[in-house]
Amino acid sequence: MNLVFFGPPGSGKGTQAKLLKNKFNIPHISLGDMLRDEVRAESEIGKRAGEIMNAGKLVPDELTIELTRERLKKPDCQQGFILDGFPRSLLQAEALEQILNDLQMKLDKVVYFQVDEDEVVGRLSGRRSCKKCGAVYHIKFNQPRVAGRCDNDGEMLCQRPDDAEAAIRTRFEVYARQTLPVLEGYRQANLLATVAAQGEIDDVFARVLAAINDGGHQA
Ligand code: ADP
Ligand code: ADP
Repeated sequence: MNLVFFGPPGSGKGTQAKLLKNKFNIPHISLGDMLRDEVRAESEIGKRAGEIMNAGKLVPDELTIELTRERLKKPDCQQGFILDGFPRSLLQAEALEQILNDLQMKLDKVVYFQVDEDEVVGRLSGRRSCKKCGAVYHIKFNQPRVAGRCDNDGEMLCQRPDDAEAAIRTRFEVYARQTLPVLEGYRQANLLATVAAQGEIDDVFARVLAAINDGGHQA
């Protein structure tokens, strides 16, 4: 199953991708996580991307396109993949088509997480994550067993710099202007499966499973 998870910041793409990865045993390819790894490693890519990410803007297309191409080439993607956070621009969408063509792969579905902006602002400001293992929590909606500590490894949980209010606002603007236009092409290609992304995490997961099994309803 070759999937793209699409939706605004905070719509639950990462949370749902981790659940699906465990159920289907296919890789979760999060461009945000990959970029944050590069920033931590202080690589050339990381040096170019860090400040742009903190401001809530998109890093240059060529960086994410290359990262995605190299990742999709790896053998573990042969059984399927969940691409989370790519494509985020029309140019990236075109590049993805080319990459998949070159690898003789095709997308099965684009799962669109639809949710009100009011709801996601609360989600982002309460998001906490573990830098060591990447687990994501929420101070109200998805609490760790011990406050402020990761369930998996006991590490201290952190707030992402781009989950500060000013960066959240920029990310929504960027999403509306640069990312949302990508949906239309997928709708026309009949690949879109829309999932109502509000409500309990488990309920959303049930909707995701239904959407990828029967295609969901077209938005
Ligand atoms: P969220 O899902 O909360 O928006 P991500 O972890 O997916 O956050 O992405 C964090 C940041 O990484 C983005 O705001 C952007 O700066 C950068 N980024 C992630 N994916 C892409 C992409 N496909 N193109 C450009 N920048 C990206
Ligand atoms: P995205 O990858 O789309 O940016 P995340 O999966 O990181 O979104 O979720 C954003 C925040 O909202 C996290 O703190 C997560 O724990 C929380 N969250 C995810 N799904 C739900 C949900 N259905 N209801 C409430 N909070 C949620």
